[in-house]
Amino acid sequence: SIRVRYAPSPTGHLHIGNARTALFNYLFARHYKGKFIIRIEDTDTKRNVADGEKSQLDNLRWLGLDWDEGPDKPGEYGPYRQSERFDIYKPYIQQLLDEGKAYKSYRTEDELEADREAQRARHEMPHYEYEYAGMSDDEIKDAMAKAEAKGLKPVIRFHVPAHKTYAWDDMVKGKVSFDSDTIGGDFVIVKADGIPTYNFAVVLDDHLMKISHVFRGDDHVANTPKQLMVYEAFGWTPPKFGHMSLIISKDTGKKLSKRDETVLQFIEQYRKLGYLPDALLNFIILLGWSPVGEDEIYSLKELVKMYDEKRLSKSPATFDKKKLEWINNQYVKTSDEDVVVDLALQQLIAAGNIPENPDAKTLEWARQLINLYKRQMSYMAQINDMASVFFQEPEKISGEALDEISNDTAPVVLKEFSERIKKLPIFDKVKILKTIKDIQKDTGIKGRKLWMPIRIAVTHEMHGPELPESIELVGRDKTLEHVAQTLA
Ligand code: GLU
Repeated sequence: SIRVRYAPSPTGHLHIGNARTALFNYLFARHYKGKFIIRIEDTDTKRNVADGEKSQLDNLRWLGLDWDEGPDKPGEYGPYRQSERFDIYKPYIQQLLDEGKAYKSYRTEDELEADREAQRARHEMPHYEYEYAGMSDDEIKDAMAKAEAKGLKPVIRFHVPAHKTYAWDDMVKGKVSFDSDTIGGDFVIVKADGIPTYNFAVVLDDHLMKISHVFRGDDHVANTPKQLMVYEAFGWTPPKFGHMSLIISKDTGKKLSKRDETVLQFIEQYRKLGYLPDALLNFIILLGWSPVGEDEIYSLKELVKMYDEKRLSKSPATFDKKKLEWINNQYVKTSDEDVVVDLALQQLIAAGNIPENPDAKTLEWARQLINLYKRQMSYMAQINDMASVFFQEPEKISGEALDEISNDTAPVVLKEFSERIKKLPIFDKVKILKTIKDIQKDTGIKGRKLWMPIRIAVTHEMHGPELPESIELVGRDKTLEHVAQTLA
């Protein structure tokens, strides 16, 4: 049966690349009616951060991904945190030691570094040099006893078979193979503090949890031969592996790195800015996967149905911010009004543009405002900037906008406009539109010369949403005030 897992290390927030890994595993599981498992890989204790696990899980849930087994969802194969599985690993470590497939290594960090330095001087790839080379079994025992007596704490290393090819048929990359002599020598499977390393624990867990397929980032390709060796040592059948392409930033042309500040990379950041989770997921799925045909907008439900791992791309995926904004805008435009209003309202409140507990009138006003800007928004935080004219005194009219109203007709339009709206019995978009049309009829001024001065006077911007509605929301007093300032 199909069982896949997403195995985050709780070293920080959910990164966009990790969210992609989670999503691809999720889709694979749901498409084939298998199980999706979350396993927390927290053995690198130095790198774990408080709340790392919680934040990972919260953000996965926010994206709309759910799982069948995990740290918060006990199942047959738990526990689902590696730190709670040390007792499970122990007999397997002992087995490898007993069978001579692993051994205790007492090389100190200084000695290892000295080795590497010498290797570099010889233009060799840094690797671990077998510390018991040429020794008999008794000599080895002796050396180990001496090291123990000195109080040295050993790590446990895996005996890497020499001159052997480790190959697999990667579900994304096709045939991949490594020569065992090139992987850096016998690698550590248990650290001096007794904690297993990733490359070892991952094999035990994937095997014990009956994982059938592993989709993960390209950065793990070099780990796979090591893991295959461990499978071999135990006589286990490995899962099928698929390594997803790198993500390249369109702006820098380089691999997306957590340090790159030109791209937001954590799901949390998008969430805070009021992105719609469905839209973000839709963007993420297109990072290295493509549907059949031209259409690119799909709900999670549709994706589950149409998902096909054969359409995972070998070539790097491009992280294109413009595309992200475009997709999100598509979603904002078509999303339920309530969803959009609710999220945008939070942004208006967070920015202090609307009071914390708005009264019914303010709420209704905000709803209209949000609807007015909805078509232009990709994420909700944008409302604060886009609609700044409603909340702040606008900047002085200058530049192009000033040129636009520096003519003979602009003052005529503005005077007419202000006199007429003063007298309107009801100040709403219908009446405002009629007023502008009447000015056209009575003065003969039309088109850009009619509309632009009004737009600029009221909003200080040359572009914006529907003008009559904007003016209604600005309100009569402020409109008159702005027009008067422009005329002055
Ligand atoms: N804990 C690993 C990571 O966060 C997972 C690797 C794997 O999926 O095997 O990169």
